Amino acid sequence: MWRVLRNIVPTRKRLWNKGVNCSPFCPRCVGVEETLDHLLRDCPWAKQAWFSSIMGIVWEDNPVGSFVNWFLELIETTPREVVEGVCAVAYAIWRARNRLCFDNKDSVVTDVALFAIQELHEYKCKQQQLGGHAQASASPPSSRIWCPPPSGYYKLNVDAAGADNDWGLAAVIRDDRGMVVAACCKQDKRAWSPEMAETAGLVLGVKLARDLGLWSLCAEADCQTVILKVQTRGACGAYIDLLIQELLCMVPLFSCISFSHVFREANSAAHWLAKRALVSQDEIWLGCTPPCIRSFIASNVLPRSS
Ligand SMILES: [Zn+2]
Repeated sequence: MWRVLRNIVPTRKRLWNKGVNCSPFCPRCVGVEETLDHLLRDCPWAKQAWFSSIMGIVWEDNPVGSFVNWFLELIETTPREVVEGVCAVAYAIWRARNRLCFDNKDSVVTDVALFAIQELHEYKCKQQQLGGHAQASASPPSSRIWCPPPSGYYKLNVDAAGADNDWGLAAVIRDDRGMVVAACCKQDKRAWSPEMAETAGLVLGVKLARDLGLWSLCAEADCQTVILKVQTRGACGAYIDLLIQELLCMVPLFSCISFSHVFREANSAAHWLAKRALVSQDEIWLGCTPPCIRSFIASNVLPRSS
C-alpha cells in the first residue's frame, strides 16, 4: 500500500505517461485509461470485487476525490483492522489485474474476496507469531443505521430471538428504496445456541431470497461471530458448521452476495419479527410489510426519486 500512498503503482496509464510502449487502457474496459483510481475503485470489476469482499464496500458512480485521499482519511478515522481489510482487498485486486495482464488468466470476484481473506489471515498469524497484539480476525465496518442496498440490489436482514429450545427466526428483504419485498418468520424448537439460531435465521433468509430469484443480495445479521464464520468460511467441527455449509452451498447461485455485521439498531425490523415468531404461527409476506414491523420500515423508506 505504500506504493498506492505515494501514487507510484505501475498502472498502464502511468507507464504510458513515462514513455513505455504499452496500452494506457484498462485490460477489462474498452477505451478507459487504467489510472490508479480506475484500477482500484472505478473499474466495474473492481467495484464488484469490493462489494463481494469482507469489506462489502459500495463505491459511488462518480466519487469525489481520489482513492488515495479516501484511504488516507480512512487511516485517520477508522479502526486498524478495517484499514488492514482494505489493504488486503486492494492488494487482491492488483494481483488479479496482474494475473490478467501477464498470465492472461481472469479471476472471478469471489476468488479475489477469498484471496483477500487468506492474505489477511496469514498477515494476522504472522503478527501473532511476532508477538503483536492483533486480533485473529478482520471485521467489516458495522453500521448503527439501516441503509438501503445499492441500486438494483436487495438487502436481507435476519435475526433470532429466544433461548434454549424455543427460538423465533425472521428474515426481512427490502429493495433499494427500503420497501419490503418479502419477509418471513418461523418458530424453531431445536436446542440451539444463540449462534446456531442466528445462523439458522441467515439460512432461512438466503433461502427466501433464492426462492424469489433475488440474485443480488446484501445479507446482514447482528451476530458478529456468525458473520465472521461465514466470511472466513471458518470451520470448528461443530453442528453450526453444517448450517454454515448449507449457507455457503447457496452462495454460487447468486450473482452477487455479501454478508455483513450490523448493530442491533440497524436490524430492528428482523429483530421484532423474530420476537413475534416466538408467539405466533410461521408466516410469509410477499410484496407487503408485516404489520408488526411497519413502524420500523416506515422510518427508513426512501422517497421515490423523481
Ligand atoms: Zn476497467
